[in-house]
Amino acid sequence: MSRVVLPGEAIGIVGGGQLARMGALAARAMGYRVIVADPDPACPAAPVADAVVQARLDSPEAVAPLAEQVAVVTYEFENIDPAVLERLAERVPVYPGVHVLRASQHRILEKTALSEMGVPVAPWRPVTSAREFRAALAAVGLPAVLKTATMGYDGKGQVVIRRPEEAEGAYARLAGAGPLVLEGFVPFTMEVSVVVARNATGEVRTFPVAENIHRNNILDLSIVPARVAPETAVRAAELAVRVAERLEVIGLLAVEMFVLPDGGLLVNELAPRPHNSGHYTMDGCVTSQFEQHIRAVAGLPLGAVDLLSPVVMVNIMGEHFPLDIPAALTDPHVKLHLYGKREARPGRKMGHLNALAPAVDEALERGRAALRRLAGDGRA
Ligand code: AMP
Repeated sequence: MSRVVLPGEAIGIVGGGQLARMGALAARAMGYRVIVADPDPACPAAPVADAVVQARLDSPEAVAPLAEQVAVVTYEFENIDPAVLERLAERVPVYPGVHVLRASQHRILEKTALSEMGVPVAPWRPVTSAREFRAALAAVGLPAVLKTATMGYDGKGQVVIRRPEEAEGAYARLAGAGPLVLEGFVPFTMEVSVVVARNATGEVRTFPVAENIHRNNILDLSIVPARVAPETAVRAAELAVRVAERLEVIGLLAVEMFVLPDGGLLVNELAPRPHNSGHYTMDGCVTSQFEQHIRAVAGLPLGAVDLLSPVVMVNIMGEHFPLDIPAALTDPHVKLHLYGKREARPGRKMGHLNALAPAVDEALERGRAALRRLAGDGRA
């Protein structure tokens, strides 16, 4: 059993983007020191960390010095070479763990692990050759989605195949990108996610289910509580707990799911880290996902996950710049979070707003209206 890491000690984070920044802020609020590893000394987490280990994140040797300065290590993104974490793990605990990291990095491993746990996923087949692709098409049927098995996020590396004549072109586009999976296209009514936390003593807590709306495959907003039947919300939480326990996660795990027309759920993706769809917790819950992650990896008891108010999180993207911040904040129930990124490029996540209201539809209206004011007419 790993020991409890106490305030005053240092927590290491591999990767210095916005998730590390918000994690570092939560850790520092509790009195921890934070050391971040990132190639960019001016990364978003740098101004709020105690120190930055400047390192290429694909190099175990370059990242290794982090372990000498901290009591525990976590990471902010899952597309990290497991060898980097294994090297760190020779000296300090690394959470959420290399095992769950491997599963979340590779769609074939991920879906195999989920199926073995009895967690429902869309029909799928691995595709590592043209012959397997033809067999997969026959087994899965159309419409279907062909996805790269690794390095896929925000809809990158995937092609929808609706008609048989589109199949060859889709395969030709992705075949050079390593192993693939073919998934049945899911006629979902909603996408939801659950962020679950687990600590080394096995204590588990799930944050309220978020309803997620994407634009151009990037999360646009999260609505909480999700507008699903109560039994669907209970089932979503149960599935998230099952996955976290079976993968022995220590820290946070985000579980993305599709809601089917009959209220059933299929798990789409796992992310063993704080998640964009959990940013609403920063203002909507007793404990934020970032504080919860720090508590879990430090070996502390978990915080309460009660929802204080219906809340809608709206992402602020590069295309929304320049921002009219005073205009957005004319509604006092809108809270601003910016990540300190210098360059606003289209498609880049720059910050988010959390809008609170007594009812979820009102929170949605407040969030959308605040973004329109923030971005000026026509860009939100
Ligand atoms: P992913 O990278 O797997 O999270 O997929 C990105 C987005 O593509 C999801 O949030 C869905 O909106 C959509 N998508 C992915 N897989 C499927 C599927 N099998 N059926 C329908 N839509 C999908």
